[in-house]
Amino acid sequence: MLEHDVIIVGGGLAGCRAALEIARTDPSLSIALVAKTHPIRSHSVAAQGGMAATLKNVDVEDSWEAHAFDTVKGSDYLADQDAVEILTREAPDVVIDLEHMGVLFSRLPDGRIAQRAFGGHSHQRTCYAADKTGHAILHELVNNLRRHGVHIYDEWYVMQLILEDAQAKGVVVYKILDGQIEVVRAKAVMFATGGYGRVYNTTSNDYASTGDGLAMSALAGVPLEDMEFVQFHPTGLYPVGVLISEAVRGEGAYLINSEGDRFMANYAPSRMELAPRDITSRAIALEIAAGRGIHPDGSAGGPFVYLDLRHMGREKIMSRVPFAWEEAHRLVGIDAVNQPMPVRPTIHYSMGGIPTNTDGQVRSSPENLIDGFFAAGEAACVSVHGANRLGSNSLLECVVYGRRTGSAIAQFIQNRKLPQVDEQRYLTAAQQQIQALLDQPGTTRINNLRQAFQDGMTDYCGVFRTEELMRQGLEQLQQLQQQYQQIYLDDKGKLWNTEIIEALELRNLMIVGQLILTSALHRQESRGAHCRQDYPHRDDTNFLKHTLAYYSPAGIDLKYLPVTITMFEPQERKY
Ligand SMILES: Cc1cc2nc3c(=O)[nH]c(=O)nc-3n(C[C@H](O)[C@H](O)[C@H](O)COP(=O)(O)OP(=O)(O)OC[C@H]3O[C@@H](n4cnc5c(N)ncnc54)[C@H](O)[C@@H]3O)c2cc1C
Repeated sequence: MLEHDVIIVGGGLAGCRAALEIARTDPSLSIALVAKTHPIRSHSVAAQGGMAATLKNVDVEDSWEAHAFDTVKGSDYLADQDAVEILTREAPDVVIDLEHMGVLFSRLPDGRIAQRAFGGHSHQRTCYAADKTGHAILHELVNNLRRHGVHIYDEWYVMQLILEDAQAKGVVVYKILDGQIEVVRAKAVMFATGGYGRVYNTTSNDYASTGDGLAMSALAGVPLEDMEFVQFHPTGLYPVGVLISEAVRGEGAYLINSEGDRFMANYAPSRMELAPRDITSRAIALEIAAGRGIHPDGSAGGPFVYLDLRHMGREKIMSRVPFAWEEAHRLVGIDAVNQPMPVRPTIHYSMGGIPTNTDGQVRSSPENLIDGFFAAGEAACVSVHGANRLGSNSLLECVVYGRRTGSAIAQFIQNRKLPQVDEQRYLTAAQQQIQALLDQPGTTRINNLRQAFQDGMTDYCGVFRTEELMRQGLEQLQQLQQQYQQIYLDDKGKLWNTEIIEALELRNLMIVGQLILTSALHRQESRGAHCRQDYPHRDDTNFLKHTLAYYSPAGIDLKYLPVTITMFEPQERKY
């Protein structure tokens, strides 16, 4: 059995920042970080537009209170305001710390860190490294982990969370290289496994964003919070769905429909293209539904709208958003200096996740915490984003709450012993699970089943939702889950058997899908990203509360958790 003081699952910004904090606090600890990708291939590396913090380098009027208000309003008043206060107060400090670590932020002419406008933010406060911010930050973090001697298990897949007697004791891991299975025990376990974009058929997320950490937690009996809130980013490049960063609109690009109109004037006149993402995505979907979308041949009535950068000019495009230009050029042959880009909403971010307190410790119920289990980043729900996240607040959350969680873990494990774990029992169960997949005599292809599932989630639980649609979605999902028993694997070997990983991920995707659908069905109101056509208004009387969904093979139970309101009373949300 492998042993470490702490095991962190996930090598993105949240996991790496936590590991670094633990190493800084107590260099004598044995810290391990496991990731199914190489850490530098975590989805964080793809983050483009930036990270919000009230440095006041560009806008001296800015304040953490203004950042907090924008975040709470953006969340449609569902965010926990104590968590938002921490996020926004600590933001400048974590950015400066990253800069001291060596992160190459873009600069103002006088050498201070530059800051740009972003959707839903009332001031220019987003710090960035051109449009490759995640890349710049993640590389420095991973360099620092190596310097501190953190043990990195890269390309190991975590199959199971070991949680017994309300205590997390370790994980079961599968080494992708050669199929070896190991049990790891630790005094503390942290999940920083990122999002689940692959639940849907069109997403900006990495292929690895399959919600594994969420499904493993759910299977271990941990509730998941606010799973109904799925973020659609307004500008996915058509048809591939990859992200065109909000930074492009932050730098001045327009959204236009088939009639050449900047239609955001009809939906959010004060913020135009820089309205929050839920509002902008719905506006685009409504324009397309009303026949004002555009076809690839330029005629009206098609499936996308235009993101127009042409008035920005070559020099600004190439210096501020070079990666967006390159993506459109490489993937759809558009030269954005001369041509508008075809865009439509794409699944982007998970507001919900593993429920934690503000030290990253995981909740087992509205009242109780789990011993030794922590989570941060996109996989967690603390909740700073409530019903809708503002752009550039996620990298910030990863770093602020990664750091806090790391610090809490370093405290927690002082004077604790390694837990007792029955290694053989977990090894045998994992081996049997893999063998059963290999031996399955079925005929269903993983790819076909996954596509059917992703199409179903997109059709039945997309930008607009109704009870009828979601009930159909749950019915279809049940049938697809039965077909999972009939999937057939071609590769029966042990070396780099990525088909096994895809099979395990597909099971996880379907569990996450079921949790999203069920939580969404029971929230009978519209709030933030959750838009019910049958309940078009926000209902604070009945639904100003967080959903906690408990999974079991027999079905899903729901409980609710009150929202923490400390600074701003809920108001109507208008832009
Ligand atoms: C294209 C794109 C652009 C974005 N731009 C911005 C931006 O400009 N600003 C902003 O604030 N936010 C942005 N976001 C959101 C933000 O990047 C993410 O929310 C954030 O980086 C998530 O970090 P994380 O550490 O939580 O997880 P991730 O970076 O997703 O990392 C997850 C880690 O978990 C590991 N893992 C998962 N499952 C397993 C398993 N079973 N076993 C072992 N390891 C596992 C993965 O290998 C990976 O290392 C963007 C997102 C996308 C997709």
